[in-house]
Amino acid sequence: MTEAGGILVGCYRGPHVEITECSEPLRRDRRSRLRFDRDDPGHQDLAKRRWKESGRVLTFVGEWHTHPESLPSPSSIDLNTWREVSRKNAAGSTVFLIRGYHAWWAGLASGRTLTRLSVIEPDAD
Ligand SMILES: [Zn+2]
Repeated sequence: MTEAGGILVGCYRGPHVEITECSEPLRRDRRSRLRFDRDDPGHQDLAKRRWKESGRVLTFVGEWHTHPESLPSPSSIDLNTWREVSRKNAAGSTVFLIRGYHAWWAGLASGRTLTRLSVIEPDAD
């Protein structure tokens, strides 16, 4: 198994970030057992395409990737990468999601501040 990831596309509505779509791993991404590097330009192309099609409503709002652990938490590499991604995202706040085997880790970055978001998991039963 190798790790997976992609971007989140959506829109900003007042204080809300609405995610409407995510991209999936593409051919030129670098995937290993412990790491996912979003190197394929296709992710950004998707965001640009949606931006045009929607009349500048839909845009890049964040990114997601998987971790090979039950309850995921961001690595120091994640935090460094996110700081950079958030800094470049002038459109608004940036959503960061990590999917582990049994749970999500979710955060919202505004400027230099990363806030962990609580995740409401669906009932198991
Ligand atoms: Zn990670």
